[in-house]
Amino acid sequence: MEPHHNLRHYKHEALMRYAKILGFGEIHTKVDPDTGLHAIIAVHSTKLGPAIGGCRFRSYSTIGSALKDVLRLAYMMTLKAATSDLPHGGAKAVLIKPKVLKDREAYFRSFGDFVHQLNGDYITSLDVGSTTEDMDIIAERTPYVIGATKTHKVDTNPSPYTAMGVLRGIEAAVKFKLNRDDLEGLHVAIQGAGAVGYFLSKALHERGAKITLCDTKPEATQRCVDEFGASVVGIDKIHDVPCDVFAPCALGGTLNLDTIDRLKTTIIAGAANNQLAHLKYGQLLHEKDILYAPDFIINSGGLINAAMVYDYEDVDMSVAKINTLYGTMLELFERSQKENKPTTNIAELMAKEKLANNTPH
Ligand code: NAD
Repeated sequence: MEPHHNLRHYKHEALMRYAKILGFGEIHTKVDPDTGLHAIIAVHSTKLGPAIGGCRFRSYSTIGSALKDVLRLAYMMTLKAATSDLPHGGAKAVLIKPKVLKDREAYFRSFGDFVHQLNGDYITSLDVGSTTEDMDIIAERTPYVIGATKTHKVDTNPSPYTAMGVLRGIEAAVKFKLNRDDLEGLHVAIQGAGAVGYFLSKALHERGAKITLCDTKPEATQRCVDEFGASVVGIDKIHDVPCDVFAPCALGGTLNLDTIDRLKTTIIAGAANNQLAHLKYGQLLHEKDILYAPDFIINSGGLINAAMVYDYEDVDMSVAKINTLYGTMLELFERSQKENKPTTNIAELMAKEKLANNTPH
């Protein structure tokens, strides 16, 4: 066999091993030459109910990297849904963006047909690169979609609900670490004033917190200056701000050896996915006595609302469930302290326990 064949074989083996380690599940692919669709749907688990997960529309350098991404993301969705006691499993779709997209509507219609073929085991929704208009197109072909404007009577924009959950997580962290029941006068440094960062700033401002934030877009920070009296620093200075809470709400992977070393806070609690550049930094934060609110739990408000709206069309139910994040986070922090283990380890453990012990609703 040629050496590159060996290498390809090895990569395929490694990916399948990765899927097995994560506990998959099903992996479906569709290639549609007419529209340019090349999609992978990874359904990690349907043990607790139909699996929910957004469809990510972006370019990938290799199919292997797309597959790795979808496997990891679908696995995280299972943990997220289980921790929130949702009657759903975890899944994700990646749509490998073609160099030229001739007809976006035809492309998403074809994806809608693909989703429908799975008979409701997979429910799709918005993710990086996909839009509400795309969800409307998908909804023409399948009912298994969240975020389409025409199918739901109530709001499915996830960002305010994600921010609501992050707020509850911050309140739990402040209670645990600072023994405070309110946020009055506390200083929160927010990295990223986008959709979630904005709603989080609003809620913090309403509770009397002082806000410092940064964003690459001046208009995003200016809105928070005008409306909430926030202070602004450059994006390379946010980790140096002395504060009570540091809230990463921009991109993933911003907490690395350098930035962790510079932090002047005892709490990290924000919305961004995959905040730690490496999972082992959970241990480092634990050793430094910095309380870290694991991202996949604290940012689950958007998913909770999506699931509640899909299942019951009931926003009051989603708000009530998002409020339970306070208790979940407190339990997690207490267990981390008692067992002397990083919060990241406890979060995964708690999710796996729920997955093992919960039964479909
Ligand atoms: P967004 O794109 O609306 O906002 C992100 C903001 O970060 C943008 O304004 C962007 O300009 C800014 N930004 C980019 N690079 C930056 C940098 N280096 N420093 C500071 N700011 C920078 O996204 P969002 O919906 O607000 O989501 C924020 C994070 O939360 C993302 O990691 C997302 O995956 C995660 N998340 C969001 C939701 C949701 O409901 N929107 C749910 C779960 C997780």
